[in-house]
Amino acid sequence: MGDARNSHKDTQCVHAGVEPDRTTGAIMTPIYQTSTFVQRSPGDHKGYEYARTLNPTREALENSIAILENATFGACFGSGLAAADAILKMFKPGDEILFGNDLYGGTYRLMTRVFAGFGLKAKFINMHDLEAVEKHLSDSTKMIMMETPTNPTLGISDIKGLSKIARKHHCILCVDNTFASPALQNPIDLGADIVWHSATKYLGGHSDVVLGAAVTNDPVIGEQLHFMQNASGAVPGPMDCFLVLRGIKTLHLRMERASENAMKVAQYLHKHAAVDNLYYPGLASHPNHEVAKKQMKQFGGMLSFDLKDNSFDKAKTILEKTKVFTLAESLGGVESLIGHPASMTHASIPKEEREKTGVTDSLIRLSVGIEHIDDLVADLDQALG
Ligand SMILES: *Cc1c(COP(=O)(O)O)cnc(C)c1O
Repeated sequence: MGDARNSHKDTQCVHAGVEPDRTTGAIMTPIYQTSTFVQRSPGDHKGYEYARTLNPTREALENSIAILENATFGACFGSGLAAADAILKMFKPGDEILFGNDLYGGTYRLMTRVFAGFGLKAKFINMHDLEAVEKHLSDSTKMIMMETPTNPTLGISDIKGLSKIARKHHCILCVDNTFASPALQNPIDLGADIVWHSATKYLGGHSDVVLGAAVTNDPVIGEQLHFMQNASGAVPGPMDCFLVLRGIKTLHLRMERASENAMKVAQYLHKHAAVDNLYYPGLASHPNHEVAKKQMKQFGGMLSFDLKDNSFDKAKTILEKTKVFTLAESLGGVESLIGHPASMTHASIPKEEREKTGVTDSLIRLSVGIEHIDDLVADLDQALG
């Protein structure tokens, strides 16, 4: 456990950041459900004063995620977007940030509807084309904020290539690693300065908690993130931290099975006559498959496809017919989910705009879980007809 930093990812998932409880020897990190901690005399305490500033359950989770991402500092927040909020608060009016144009919708809303009002500038660009990215950088660019794979069309960007561009222009590279999880991809090793997660998804892994995290190797950024936890206060409660700690113990197994299942589902869909475009970075036909192969261990549990009969009604029939795949928002749990981006996550984007990024009326997104592959394929087979 003490040496988790040097062990394999599988061992880190089970042990990193957690030690038997100092007072009782409890193997599992206790849920320290307390807001304050006793002081023997003013300032004389055991390192904990008030739970917004520091809580032992949260601290264990922060260490766990930091170690999993090969980072030295970790900070957890009340949701993934609260982590993004803390990162964006490090900047000043006039600073510019480059975002991918197929960014998670909530991050887009946070930037355009909250931070734009405080003078932060943003450009939304194609992150999959490195030459194009470099043309957009200026002296006021302070950060490149990207995700890979992206939602819902599983775009892949070259993290190492972007980190070289960021370094050359003295700006920060920040990666949303939610879709891959630290079991499959470690952006810090590829030159990223900050990695953040919606732990609501794969880290938690059981669709029972909302939580976020940001990690870094930079002590100045690490200090700023901890300052923001305390100053703005968007911290998670100890019960939620416990649930994510528990989820992480099986992260490697879940990601392995979800990736295997998604690959087989992709191979099935690839041959299906009703399917038009199919988006999965594990297929050789994916435009950035080679980049995905370089930076990911496996290709994850997310995939999407649209239909030759590109109509909302045809998609609707399929969404209503699946039984193992449940119709719901979110992703990354043990159970398989099916979703319809055009009417669910991307409903607020005008049809013409969303179609430019592949979100057609018939696009269907799958979060492939860890059930038996035969049941998953049989379910899609009966629904596709
Ligand atoms: C869900 C999600 C988020 C937002 O996280 P919350 O925990 O819902 O706040 C950010 N990025 C990606 C890629 C997501 O899927």
